Amino acid sequence: MPFPVSISRQPQSECGFATKMVDHCLSDAISQSASDIHLQPRRECWEVYYRVDGVLHLAKTFPNDSKTNPVARLMSLASLPSYMGGVPQEGSFQWNDENTQSYEMRLSVFSTVHGNRAAIRIMGEDGSVLNLNQLGINQDTETRLKQVCNAREGWLLVAGPAGSGKTTTLYACLRYIASAEQKRSVLTIEDPVESVIESISQCQLQPNSGLNLAAALGSVVRPAAELLFVREIRAAETAETVLSASMTGHLCFSSIHAGSIGSTLRRLVQMKLPTYAIQTGLRGIVCQRLLRRICKQCLDHPSGREGCKSCHGTGYKGRVPIFQLVDFNELESSQQVFTELENGATATSIDARIQEVGLASLEDQATELIDTKITDPAEVFRVLGSRV
Ligand SMILES: [Zn+2]
Repeated sequence: MPFPVSISRQPQSECGFATKMVDHCLSDAISQSASDIHLQPRRECWEVYYRVDGVLHLAKTFPNDSKTNPVARLMSLASLPSYMGGVPQEGSFQWNDENTQSYEMRLSVFSTVHGNRAAIRIMGEDGSVLNLNQLGINQDTETRLKQVCNAREGWLLVAGPAGSGKTTTLYACLRYIASAEQKRSVLTIEDPVESVIESISQCQLQPNSGLNLAAALGSVVRPAAELLFVREIRAAETAETVLSASMTGHLCFSSIHAGSIGSTLRRLVQMKLPTYAIQTGLRGIVCQRLLRRICKQCLDHPSGREGCKSCHGTGYKGRVPIFQLVDFNELESSQQVFTELENGATATSIDARIQEVGLASLEDQATELIDTKITDPAEVFRVLGSRV
Protein backbone atom coordinates (compact mmCIF):
# COMPACT_ATOMS: atom_id res chain seq x y z
CA MET A 1 0.00 0.00 0.00
CA PRO A 2 1.50 3.37 -0.96
CA PHE A 3 2.28 5.88 1.73
CA PRO A 4 -0.83 8.01 2.46
CA VAL A 5 -0.72 11.21 0.47
CA SER A 6 -1.80 14.45 2.10
CA ILE A 7 -3.80 16.88 0.00
CA SER A 8 -5.24 20.26 0.60
CA ARG A 9 -8.64 21.39 -0.61
CA GLN A 10 -8.51 23.64 -3.61
CA PRO A 11 -10.90 26.51 -4.19
CA GLN A 12 -14.00 25.14 -5.96
CA SER A 13 -13.73 27.55 -8.90
CA GLU A 14 -10.43 26.06 -9.97
CA CYS A 15 -11.62 22.49 -9.82
CA GLY A 16 -12.95 20.32 -12.57
CA PHE A 17 -16.14 18.36 -12.28
CA ALA A 18 -14.43 15.23 -10.95
CA THR A 19 -12.62 17.15 -8.22
CA LYS A 20 -15.83 18.88 -7.17
CA MET A 21 -17.74 15.66 -7.16
CA VAL A 22 -15.12 13.87 -5.07
CA ASP A 23 -14.91 16.78 -2.60
CA HIS A 24 -18.67 16.95 -2.34
CA CYS A 25 -19.15 13.20 -1.84
CA LEU A 26 -16.44 12.93 0.81
CA SER A 27 -17.81 15.87 2.86
CA ASP A 28 -21.38 14.75 2.43
CA ALA A 29 -20.64 11.15 3.42
CA ILE A 30 -18.74 12.30 6.53
CA SER A 31 -21.63 14.58 7.51
CA GLN A 32 -23.95 11.57 7.31
CA SER A 33 -21.55 9.46 9.44
CA ALA A 34 -21.06 7.03 6.56
CA SER A 35 -18.39 4.36 6.89
CA ASP A 36 -17.96 3.70 3.15
CA ILE A 37 -18.63 5.36 -0.18
CA HIS A 38 -19.12 3.39 -3.38
CA LEU A 39 -18.80 5.03 -6.79
CA GLN A 40 -20.42 2.86 -9.42
CA PRO A 41 -20.21 3.78 -13.11
CA ARG A 42 -23.31 3.04 -15.21
CA ARG A 43 -23.78 3.67 -18.91
CA GLU A 44 -25.47 7.06 -18.40
CA CYS A 45 -24.54 8.08 -14.89
CA TRP A 46 -22.46 7.63 -11.79
CA GLU A 47 -24.25 6.12 -8.80
CA VAL A 48 -22.93 7.14 -5.42
CA TYR A 49 -23.75 4.94 -2.45
CA TYR A 50 -23.05 5.59 1.24
CA ARG A 51 -22.94 2.91 3.89
CA VAL A 52 -24.57 4.32 7.00
CA ASP A 53 -25.08 2.18 10.11
CA GLY A 54 -24.03 -0.83 8.08
CA VAL A 55 -26.54 -0.39 5.24
CA LEU A 56 -25.74 0.83 1.72
CA HIS A 57 -28.02 3.59 0.38
CA LEU A 58 -28.07 5.23 -3.04
CA ALA A 59 -27.12 8.79 -2.05
CA LYS A 60 -27.00 10.53 -5.44
CA THR A 61 -26.35 10.19 -9.15
CA PHE A 62 -24.18 12.28 -11.49
CA PRO A 63 -24.09 12.23 -15.28
CA ASN A 64 -21.37 9.95 -16.63
CA ASP A 65 -19.50 12.20 -19.00
CA SER A 66 -16.42 10.92 -20.78
CA LYS A 67 -14.53 14.09 -19.82
CA THR A 68 -15.07 13.54 -16.13
CA ASN A 69 -13.97 10.62 -14.07
CA PRO A 70 -14.14 10.81 -10.29
CA VAL A 71 -12.38 7.45 -9.91
CA ALA A 72 -9.36 8.80 -11.81
CA ARG A 73 -9.32 11.75 -9.41
CA LEU A 74 -9.42 9.37 -6.41
CA MET A 75 -6.65 7.23 -7.88
CA SER A 76 -4.48 10.29 -8.35
CA LEU A 77 -5.10 11.31 -4.72
CA ALA A 78 -3.94 7.86 -3.63
CA SER A 79 -1.01 7.90 -6.09
CA LEU A 80 -2.27 4.80 -7.87
CA PRO A 81 -1.01 4.31 -11.41
CA SER A 82 -3.69 4.70 -14.07
CA TYR A 83 -1.97 2.44 -16.60
CA MET A 84 -2.72 -0.80 -14.74
CA GLY A 85 -6.08 -1.20 -16.46
CA GLY A 86 -8.20 -4.07 -15.23
CA VAL A 87 -6.04 -4.91 -12.23
CA PRO A 88 -7.73 -4.33 -8.85
CA GLN A 89 -5.75 -1.74 -6.86
CA GLU A 90 -5.67 -0.50 -3.29
CA GLY A 91 -4.30 2.68 -1.79
CA SER A 92 -5.00 5.39 0.74
CA PHE A 93 -4.89 9.16 1.17
CA GLN A 94 -5.49 11.72 3.89
CA TRP A 95 -8.41 14.06 3.44
CA ASN A 96 -9.22 17.19 5.43
CA ASP A 97 -12.80 18.38 5.82
CA GLU A 98 -13.91 22.00 6.21
CA ASN A 99 -13.10 21.88 9.94
CA THR A 100 -9.60 20.66 9.03
CA GLN A 101 -10.40 17.37 10.68
CA SER A 102 -8.17 14.78 9.00
CA TYR A 103 -9.50 11.43 7.80
CA GLU A 104 -7.68 8.51 6.31
CA MET A 105 -9.46 7.22 3.21
CA ARG A 106 -8.77 3.66 2.04
CA LEU A 107 -9.46 3.28 -1.61
CA SER A 108 -10.00 0.14 -3.63
CA VAL A 109 -10.58 0.22 -7.35
CA PHE A 110 -11.58 -2.47 -9.80
CA SER A 111 -12.85 -2.38 -13.33
CA THR A 112 -16.38 -3.07 -14.55
CA VAL A 113 -17.89 -3.04 -18.04
CA HIS A 114 -18.63 0.70 -17.66
CA GLY A 115 -15.22 1.62 -16.27
CA ASN A 116 -13.47 1.68 -12.93
CA ARG A 117 -15.54 1.35 -9.82
CA ALA A 118 -14.27 2.70 -6.47
CA ALA A 119 -14.97 1.84 -2.87
CA ILE A 120 -13.70 4.20 -0.20
CA ARG A 121 -13.52 3.25 3.44
CA ILE A 122 -13.59 6.28 5.76
CA MET A 123 -11.38 5.48 8.71
CA GLY A 124 -12.37 6.81 12.12
CA GLU A 125 -10.79 9.88 13.60
CA ASP A 126 -7.85 9.29 15.91
CA GLY A 127 -9.01 8.25 19.32
CA SER A 128 -12.12 6.58 17.94
CA VAL A 129 -11.37 3.31 19.76
CA LEU A 130 -14.16 2.73 22.27
CA ASN A 131 -13.88 1.63 25.87
CA LEU A 132 -15.55 -1.64 26.89
CA ASN A 133 -18.26 0.32 28.70
CA GLN A 134 -19.09 2.25 25.51
CA LEU A 135 -19.88 -0.87 23.46
CA GLY A 136 -23.51 -0.94 24.61
CA ILE A 137 -23.26 -4.40 26.20
CA ASN A 138 -24.81 -5.17 29.59
CA GLN A 139 -22.90 -5.00 32.87
CA ASP A 140 -22.75 -8.77 33.40
CA THR A 141 -21.30 -9.38 29.92
CA GLU A 142 -18.81 -6.54 30.38
CA THR A 143 -17.61 -8.01 33.70
CA ARG A 144 -17.21 -11.46 32.14
CA LEU A 145 -15.39 -10.00 29.13
CA LYS A 146 -12.97 -8.19 31.45
CA GLN A 147 -12.35 -11.48 33.23
CA VAL A 148 -11.24 -13.01 29.91
CA CYS A 149 -9.05 -9.94 29.16
CA ASN A 150 -7.37 -10.35 32.54
CA ALA A 151 -6.49 -14.00 31.86
CA ARG A 152 -2.88 -14.93 31.14
CA GLU A 153 -3.57 -17.49 28.45
CA GLY A 154 -6.30 -18.78 26.19
CA TRP A 155 -7.97 -17.66 22.98
CA LEU A 156 -10.97 -15.38 22.62
CA LEU A 157 -12.70 -15.49 19.26
CA VAL A 158 -15.17 -12.81 18.21
CA ALA A 159 -17.62 -14.21 15.67
CA GLY A 160 -20.11 -12.60 13.31
CA PRO A 161 -20.53 -11.66 9.65
CA ALA A 162 -18.82 -8.61 8.07
CA GLY A 163 -19.99 -5.35 9.61
CA SER A 164 -21.18 -6.87 12.88
CA GLY A 165 -18.80 -4.83 15.04
CA LYS A 166 -16.17 -7.53 15.69
CA THR A 167 -13.21 -5.19 15.25
CA THR A 168 -14.77 -2.56 17.53
CA THR A 169 -15.13 -5.19 20.27
CA LEU A 170 -11.59 -6.46 19.81
CA TYR A 171 -10.11 -2.95 19.88
CA ALA A 172 -12.09 -2.16 23.05
CA CYS A 173 -10.56 -5.27 24.68
CA LEU A 174 -7.08 -4.17 23.59
CA ARG A 175 -7.67 -0.67 24.92
CA TYR A 176 -8.80 -2.13 28.26
CA ILE A 177 -5.67 -4.28 28.44
CA ALA A 178 -3.39 -1.40 27.34
CA SER A 179 -4.82 0.87 30.04
CA ALA A 180 -4.34 -1.64 32.89
CA GLU A 181 -1.90 -0.71 35.64
CA GLN A 182 0.09 -3.86 35.19
CA LYS A 183 1.51 -3.51 31.69
CA ARG A 184 1.68 -6.51 29.42
CA SER A 185 3.56 -6.89 26.21
CA VAL A 186 0.92 -6.71 23.48
CA LEU A 187 1.55 -7.48 19.84
CA THR A 188 -1.05 -7.09 17.14
CA ILE A 189 -0.70 -8.53 13.66
CA GLU A 190 -3.03 -6.73 11.31
CA ASP A 191 -3.64 -6.16 7.66
CA PRO A 192 -4.31 -3.27 7.65
CA VAL A 193 -3.85 -1.60 11.05
CA GLU A 194 -7.31 -0.13 11.59
CA SER A 195 -6.78 2.16 14.59
CA VAL A 196 -3.68 3.02 16.54
CA ILE A 197 -3.62 2.36 20.27
CA GLU A 198 -0.89 3.96 22.35
CA SER A 199 1.44 1.70 24.37
CA ILE A 200 1.02 -1.48 22.35
CA SER A 201 2.98 -2.78 19.36
CA GLN A 202 0.95 -2.97 16.19
CA CYS A 203 2.43 -4.74 13.26
CA GLN A 204 1.22 -4.23 9.70
CA LEU A 205 1.74 -7.22 7.44
CA GLN A 206 3.84 -6.53 4.34
CA PRO A 207 3.70 -9.64 2.21
CA ASN A 208 5.82 -8.01 -0.54
CA SER A 209 8.77 -7.59 1.79
CA GLY A 210 8.39 -11.02 3.35
CA LEU A 211 6.45 -10.05 6.47
CA ASN A 212 3.58 -12.43 6.04
CA LEU A 213 1.52 -13.94 8.81
CA ALA A 214 3.71 -17.03 9.17
CA ALA A 215 6.83 -14.88 9.56
CA ALA A 216 5.16 -12.51 12.00
CA LEU A 217 3.92 -15.36 14.14
CA GLY A 218 7.21 -17.19 13.88
CA SER A 219 9.95 -17.81 16.35
CA VAL A 220 11.30 -14.25 16.54
CA VAL A 221 8.16 -12.31 17.29
CA ARG A 222 5.98 -14.65 19.27
CA PRO A 223 8.14 -15.15 22.39
CA ALA A 224 8.35 -11.35 22.83
CA ALA A 225 4.61 -10.98 23.34
CA GLU A 226 2.35 -12.00 26.21
CA LEU A 227 -0.73 -11.02 24.32
CA LEU A 228 -1.28 -11.67 20.64
CA PHE A 229 -3.95 -10.12 18.49
CA VAL A 230 -4.27 -11.72 15.08
CA ARG A 231 -7.19 -9.98 13.58
CA GLU A 232 -8.83 -12.45 11.35
CA ILE A 233 -8.73 -16.21 11.24
CA ARG A 234 -9.27 -17.36 7.65
CA ALA A 235 -6.75 -20.10 7.06
CA ALA A 236 -6.26 -23.35 8.94
CA GLU A 237 -2.55 -22.63 9.32
CA THR A 238 -3.21 -19.35 11.17
CA ALA A 239 -5.81 -21.01 13.39
CA GLU A 240 -3.36 -23.74 14.31
CA THR A 241 -0.55 -21.30 15.14
CA VAL A 242 -2.75 -19.03 17.25
CA LEU A 243 -4.29 -21.99 19.05
CA SER A 244 -0.89 -23.38 19.90
CA ALA A 245 0.22 -19.93 21.15
CA SER A 246 -2.86 -19.81 23.36
CA MET A 247 -1.78 -23.11 24.91
CA THR A 248 1.75 -21.90 25.63
CA GLY A 249 1.24 -18.88 27.83
CA HIS A 250 -0.23 -16.34 25.42
CA LEU A 251 -3.57 -14.64 25.61
CA CYS A 252 -4.84 -14.43 22.04
CA PHE A 253 -7.63 -12.46 20.38
CA SER A 254 -9.05 -12.92 16.89
CA SER A 255 -12.17 -12.53 14.85
CA ILE A 256 -13.78 -15.18 12.70
CA HIS A 257 -16.58 -15.21 10.13
CA ALA A 258 -19.17 -17.48 11.71
CA GLY A 259 -22.81 -17.02 12.60
CA SER A 260 -23.06 -18.55 16.05
CA ILE A 261 -21.10 -20.14 18.89
CA GLY A 262 -21.83 -23.60 17.49
CA SER A 263 -20.79 -22.71 13.96
CA THR A 264 -17.57 -21.12 15.25
CA LEU A 265 -16.67 -24.40 16.97
CA ARG A 266 -17.56 -26.35 13.82
CA ARG A 267 -15.35 -24.01 11.73
CA LEU A 268 -12.40 -24.77 13.99
CA VAL A 269 -13.01 -28.50 13.59
CA GLN A 270 -13.33 -28.00 9.84
CA MET A 271 -9.90 -26.34 9.94
CA LYS A 272 -8.62 -29.71 11.24
CA LEU A 273 -7.93 -28.50 14.77
CA PRO A 274 -8.25 -31.44 17.18
CA THR A 275 -11.14 -31.10 19.66
CA TYR A 276 -8.87 -31.67 22.68
CA ALA A 277 -6.65 -28.76 21.54
CA ILE A 278 -9.69 -26.51 21.01
CA GLN A 279 -10.92 -27.43 24.48
CA THR A 280 -7.53 -26.67 26.02
CA GLY A 281 -6.75 -23.43 24.21
CA LEU A 282 -10.11 -21.79 23.50
CA ARG A 283 -11.13 -19.58 26.41
CA GLY A 284 -14.26 -18.09 24.97
CA ILE A 285 -16.37 -17.00 22.00
CA VAL A 286 -18.23 -13.75 21.54
CA CYS A 287 -20.99 -13.89 18.95
CA GLN A 288 -22.42 -10.55 17.93
CA ARG A 289 -24.55 -8.49 15.53
CA LEU A 290 -25.41 -4.82 15.24
CA LEU A 291 -29.04 -3.71 14.90
CA ARG A 292 -30.00 -0.23 13.75
CA ARG A 293 -31.84 1.83 16.33
CA ILE A 294 -35.22 3.36 15.49
CA CYS A 295 -34.72 7.10 14.95
CA LYS A 296 -36.14 8.70 18.11
CA GLN A 297 -37.16 11.90 16.33
CA CYS A 298 -39.25 9.98 13.78
CA LEU A 299 -40.78 7.84 16.51
CA ASP A 300 -41.96 10.92 18.39
CA HIS A 301 -43.42 12.45 15.23
CA PRO A 302 -47.25 12.37 15.03
CA SER A 303 -47.22 11.11 11.43
CA GLY A 304 -45.23 8.04 12.41
CA ARG A 305 -41.87 6.86 11.06
CA GLU A 306 -41.71 8.69 7.77
CA GLY A 307 -38.00 9.35 8.04
CA CYS A 308 -36.71 12.77 8.99
CA LYS A 309 -33.74 15.06 8.44
CA SER A 310 -31.89 13.67 11.43
CA CYS A 311 -31.91 10.09 10.04
CA HIS A 312 -31.70 11.18 6.35
CA GLY A 313 -35.06 9.59 5.70
CA THR A 314 -34.06 6.07 6.72
CA GLY A 315 -36.04 5.90 9.97
CA TYR A 316 -32.99 4.56 11.82
CA LYS A 317 -30.14 6.27 13.63
CA GLY A 318 -27.22 4.63 15.39
CA ARG A 319 -26.78 0.96 16.22
CA VAL A 320 -27.09 -1.30 19.22
CA PRO A 321 -25.20 -4.59 19.64
CA ILE A 322 -26.66 -7.96 20.51
CA PHE A 323 -23.93 -9.90 22.10
CA GLN A 324 -23.45 -13.42 23.42
CA LEU A 325 -20.31 -14.30 25.36
CA VAL A 326 -19.48 -17.88 26.28
CA ASP A 327 -16.55 -18.26 28.66
CA PHE A 328 -15.75 -21.98 28.53
CA ASN A 329 -14.01 -21.77 31.93
CA GLU A 330 -17.31 -20.70 33.48
CA LEU A 331 -19.81 -22.58 31.32
CA GLU A 332 -21.43 -25.43 33.30
CA SER A 333 -22.03 -27.57 30.24
CA SER A 334 -18.56 -26.93 28.80
CA GLN A 335 -17.51 -30.59 28.92
CA GLN A 336 -20.75 -31.72 27.26
CA VAL A 337 -20.30 -29.14 24.51
CA PHE A 338 -16.83 -30.43 23.63
CA THR A 339 -17.91 -34.08 23.87
CA GLU A 340 -20.73 -33.34 21.45
CA LEU A 341 -18.34 -31.46 19.18
CA GLU A 342 -16.04 -34.49 19.16
CA ASN A 343 -19.00 -36.71 18.31
CA GLY A 344 -19.88 -34.58 15.29
CA ALA A 345 -22.88 -32.68 16.70
CA THR A 346 -24.25 -29.96 14.42
CA ALA A 347 -23.78 -26.24 15.11
CA THR A 348 -27.51 -25.95 15.85
CA SER A 349 -27.48 -28.65 18.50
CA ILE A 350 -24.39 -27.15 20.15
CA ASP A 351 -26.14 -23.77 20.22
CA ALA A 352 -29.19 -25.42 21.80
CA ARG A 353 -26.96 -27.01 24.46
CA ILE A 354 -25.47 -23.59 25.30
CA GLN A 355 -28.95 -22.05 25.51
CA GLU A 356 -29.93 -24.61 28.15
CA VAL A 357 -27.73 -22.91 30.73
CA GLY A 358 -29.80 -19.75 30.39
CA LEU A 359 -27.47 -17.60 28.31
CA ALA A 360 -29.75 -15.21 26.38
CA SER A 361 -29.53 -15.96 22.64
CA LEU A 362 -29.13 -13.24 20.00
CA GLU A 363 -32.79 -13.85 19.08
CA ASP A 364 -33.93 -13.36 22.70
CA GLN A 365 -32.01 -10.12 22.91
CA ALA A 366 -33.40 -8.91 19.58
CA THR A 367 -36.97 -9.66 20.68
CA GLU A 368 -36.40 -7.65 23.83
CA LEU A 369 -35.13 -4.71 21.75
CA ILE A 370 -38.27 -4.89 19.58
CA ASP A 371 -40.48 -4.94 22.69
CA THR A 372 -38.73 -1.87 24.11
CA LYS A 373 -38.98 -0.07 20.72
CA ILE A 374 -35.21 0.26 20.39
CA THR A 375 -35.38 -1.51 17.03
CA ASP A 376 -38.10 -3.07 14.86
CA PRO A 377 -38.94 -6.47 13.34
CA ALA A 378 -37.84 -5.43 9.82
CA GLU A 379 -34.35 -4.60 11.07
CA VAL A 380 -34.10 -7.84 13.06
CA PHE A 381 -35.16 -9.75 9.97
CA ARG A 382 -32.52 -7.93 7.90
CA VAL A 383 -29.79 -8.96 10.34
CA LEU A 384 -30.89 -12.34 11.70
CA GLY A 385 -33.16 -13.58 8.90
CA SER A 386 -36.19 -15.56 9.93
CA ARG A 387 -34.68 -16.80 13.18
CA VAL A 388 -37.01 -14.63 15.30
ZN1 LIG B 1 -35.70 10.21 11.73
